[in-house]
Amino acid sequence: MNQNKKFNIRLFRPDLGEEELLSIKDSFENAWIGLGPKVSEFENKWSDYLGCKSSVGVNSATAALHLAVSAFRFPEGKKVLVPSITFASTAFAPVYNNLEPVFVDVDSETISISLDDLEKKYTKDCVAVIPVHFGGHPALMDKILEFANSHNLKIIEDCAHTIGASYKGIKLGLWGDIGCFSFEEKKAMTTGDGGMISSDNSELILPLKANRWVGIDKDTWKRELSIKNEEENNKHWYYEIAVLGYKYNMNDLSASIGLIQLKKIDSMNKKRSGIISRYLEGIKGFNNIKPLLPYEPGNNNYWLFGVRCKKRDKLISFLKTNGIATGVHYMPLELHPFFKRWDNGCMVSKNIWKEFITLPLHTKLLDEEIDYIIEKLKVFDDKF
Ligand SMILES: *Cc1c(COP(=O)(O)O)cnc(C)c1O
Repeated sequence: MNQNKKFNIRLFRPDLGEEELLSIKDSFENAWIGLGPKVSEFENKWSDYLGCKSSVGVNSATAALHLAVSAFRFPEGKKVLVPSITFASTAFAPVYNNLEPVFVDVDSETISISLDDLEKKYTKDCVAVIPVHFGGHPALMDKILEFANSHNLKIIEDCAHTIGASYKGIKLGLWGDIGCFSFEEKKAMTTGDGGMISSDNSELILPLKANRWVGIDKDTWKRELSIKNEEENNKHWYYEIAVLGYKYNMNDLSASIGLIQLKKIDSMNKKRSGIISRYLEGIKGFNNIKPLLPYEPGNNNYWLFGVRCKKRDKLISFLKTNGIATGVHYMPLELHPFFKRWDNGCMVSKNIWKEFITLPLHTKLLDEEIDYIIEKLKVFDDKF
């Protein structure tokens, strides 16, 4: 036993309680836990929250990104610009659609897609760009939009790291043609697993309801309702498949949790902002440990708190022996065997990621735990 190990602190932790349990119970009692009315209700409430026309619930942001890219029916072999530091799903989305990802270097401060490199990597074959608001820090959407418009690129925003914040007065997720969100268990809010496709362009995204549900264009529960309304109709079983379908639907069990989480998202964001402020205050003036991002907890909704340190791996071990979980978000994708074939430089990414450490950030983190983490960071910073 390590004497210093006062706590065992998790990196992430979903904020789930009695309310979510009651909401699931409701779905149990109705004995409808698949794609049903709760999914529609969640989609509508989500659209209201974000302030957009339409949303389509799916079982992950990975599925959301896949379907979002498919909505444009880009010709095979065209190219999609993606940041080199992101979760794999951002770059899988073009690959699923028989398109090529083109890695764009990141800005060394914000870790979001670099505008300079975006211009350098652009070629006539490019059809879209997928910016990621890394850690919750907004990508420069006004500039990206300007660039995209002048080159006829579609924008799919990967909003897996932020929910509900605005950049220059416009909600993140609504700057681009389509916004994609994640409700995976570690993310800003959760449905277990889940994702959402949102847009003001209903004609663009509502057809994706068929793609998410094995190609069938009617939600099952709507079919159920029409049976009740037309007792005589013996064609209740009839449907047509006109598009390639996937089994990507959100289900009512997930949506039940999502409806409650949505009510809590603003307060959960606020708690995370408070924790980040406490961290920033605590590490202010450290020489060898610096904040990962130019955090502005009053303006943005962050999902990830991290630091940069030249002795990254030593710090990870040190924190581990003190009962503090850490992570690394993320290794540049080109360094993975699967994405190596698309390696095209991105030297900023390949240098800066070596210093990244993600620290615990979740709504149940106690002040004394944060202070304990800061205390340990201080010990390491002093000894450095
Ligand atoms: C988590 C994440 C995804 C994928 O989300 P899932 O809901 O787990 O599929 C996509 N993009 C980024 C940037 C992510 O962090």
